[in-house]
Amino acid sequence: MRKLLLPRGGTILPCRSSSPALAARCQLHTFATTAKPGQARRQLAPWRPTSIRRLRLSTTTSRWDAGEEETGTYSEADHEHAVISTFDLFSVGIGPSSSHTVGPMRAGNIFIADLVEADLLRRVHRLRVSIYGSLALTGEGHMTPSALLLGLESADVGTVDTTHVPERFAEIKNTKKLFLGRALARGAGREIDFDYGRDFIWEWGRKLPLHSNGMRFTVFDADGYVLATNDLFSVGGGFVVNGALSINPDVQESSSVTIKDDAAAAHPADLAENMYYKEIRRSDAAGGRKTGAEVKLLDDASATPAPPPPAAAALGSGADSGDVSATEGGDDAAVDAEAASDSAPSQKPRYPFHNASSLLSLCNKHNLTIAQLVYENEKSHGYTDEEIYQKLGRIWQVMDDSILESVQAPEDSILPGSLKLHRRAPALYKRLTRGLYASRTRDATPASSPFFPKTKAEGGSLPQSSSTTTLARMQGAPGAISRRQHARVHGALDHPIAPSPTRRTTFPAMDYLTVYAMAVNETNAAGGRIVTAPTNGAAGIIPAVLKYTIEFLSDDPERDIPTFLLTAAAIGMLYKRGATISAAEGGCMAEVGVACSMAAGAFAACMGASPETIEQAAEIGIEHNLGLTCDPVGGLVQAPCIERNALGAIKAISSANLALSSVTGTQKIRLDDAIRAMRVTAKGMRNEFKETSLSGLATSVPFLNIPVSVPDC
Ligand code: SF4
Repeated sequence: MRKLLLPRGGTILPCRSSSPALAARCQLHTFATTAKPGQARRQLAPWRPTSIRRLRLSTTTSRWDAGEEETGTYSEADHEHAVISTFDLFSVGIGPSSSHTVGPMRAGNIFIADLVEADLLRRVHRLRVSIYGSLALTGEGHMTPSALLLGLESADVGTVDTTHVPERFAEIKNTKKLFLGRALARGAGREIDFDYGRDFIWEWGRKLPLHSNGMRFTVFDADGYVLATNDLFSVGGGFVVNGALSINPDVQESSSVTIKDDAAAAHPADLAENMYYKEIRRSDAAGGRKTGAEVKLLDDASATPAPPPPAAAALGSGADSGDVSATEGGDDAAVDAEAASDSAPSQKPRYPFHNASSLLSLCNKHNLTIAQLVYENEKSHGYTDEEIYQKLGRIWQVMDDSILESVQAPEDSILPGSLKLHRRAPALYKRLTRGLYASRTRDATPASSPFFPKTKAEGGSLPQSSSTTTLARMQGAPGAISRRQHARVHGALDHPIAPSPTRRTTFPAMDYLTVYAMAVNETNAAGGRIVTAPTNGAAGIIPAVLKYTIEFLSDDPERDIPTFLLTAAAIGMLYKRGATISAAEGGCMAEVGVACSMAAGAFAACMGASPETIEQAAEIGIEHNLGLTCDPVGGLVQAPCIERNALGAIKAISSANLALSSVTGTQKIRLDDAIRAMRVTAKGMRNEFKETSLSGLATSVPFLNIPVSVPDC
């Protein structure tokens, strides 16, 4: 018998829907009629067809062990180009997970904003939160509950004090009070009773059909009746799909606010819509990013709309979004669409591309580098030159600070979570920089640079932020310079095969890449501030490669930072449209694999590579990550994640070097082919290997076989 969600003390009741199929699946009616144990039940008014229609995708659940069924589809996305804003792909967030921490915090925000918009928040007396699938299975280790509840208090993921999150979470649990919309304007929020043990539901064995990372929010009035409910999905990289708020018609009729029809509402009309931006309200998204208008634009512009390839139907989710390679007519469609866009409203991307092939066509046709093309698209999203530079500068600063934060941490510090993992970046960095003097590279940079703003010590507003500052501090620290210990030789000294004496191995480039990447991921694992690049789990690779480029190779950081970030963003967009950047859909190849590919292409761009060579570097970067599983031990974004980022950064540089030393145009596998392969691989990958901690490393280390997602209440 299918398990139903019930409020404590509730009973299973027959659904009042006239549709047997819906009645069999509908949980909302059960909620509505059982919310108040002992209370006389009230006959709800029949749901309107619009409500039913909205609920179809959001009220069904599928059993986890029947996980191969993927009934959801981002239908509108099938016709979409790949262009999103760089500042949605790279966004400032908190650790440890973009899909399990950043997304849920944003989802909580969206739900509250929707209640405010519908004038319902003031009537809320009780809230019920359920998390499903991968979110439930690794939620505790990924700090999902704290992020989600802080999101319901309207904390902003980009600015919230990261040290405040665990404190406030503990307070909510202890006081059994939750202040919905706490960060909104005075008087807009509402404090309610919230019993974490009762009102926060872990649906470990079930998932909602659209995506593994599902959340269901339901609010009740003072009499225990449902006011509204919504399902939201964290689809990777901090992006959230809003399933559309469903409001009890009884409430709707008595509300002083007119709820608009589906078609006219400012609310997302299609589940795919806000996959492409990270704003709480659509109206705030760059360029008013929405599917409908652009679908028409593309259809009108291209005489022969490209059909989805056979493989596109395979993944059965957002990944099957109709990617089209060059051989399938994608070039023409994109270039035609681009031509049409000249007469389109300014918010539309000036150079819409669907895949790598059409991206290269546009670059060649208009004599633009990939970075230049993405820059132009950002301008057509409405950003000024200054805003683009400021935003890129902010991204780089957060990346750099996330490295600094970790290498400055005490060497013996332990990361949060049941693994009790030691931080390694502080000691690695100290060993690497021993004997170096602090350089004065910052003094030589322009004072007004968005990439190198003044620190507090220099009269600016930023905290101390540079590796040289770190080095100076470390050199002054007691015991900073220590004598090397003579290591004990292991093995029989009188054996014909003499044991090797311990020697110090130093591979400077690899060592720096390693420490930079691990530093970011240790900051992430500690719940610190990082940039989703494109996700939290893989947040170390791009900063590591960029930092190495800036510190050791670049003759012009002012040029190379934007070039790197914008090129990486273009490649990330291709994966987001053509496959996935969600580990819950594609395992670790969707996180570390994609980040490696992005960094490889971006590094090649900074080395002056052509668009074709950049594409080749990106292809090599993903090709050798295909099939990489996600099986974090203990559900924590620590093992294998932290080391995996270090290896991903090294692999990115190797990939770029291989491409740079190859003859352009001779490669047999194109990036679009590899993205298609990734999509097929994701489809074939078992759910146990998709961010669930149900197999692989998570269950193979006997003494580390720690139960995950056990609420610590
Ligand atoms: S194994 Fe990879 S995808 Fe999974 S949590 Fe770690 S970094 Fe993310």
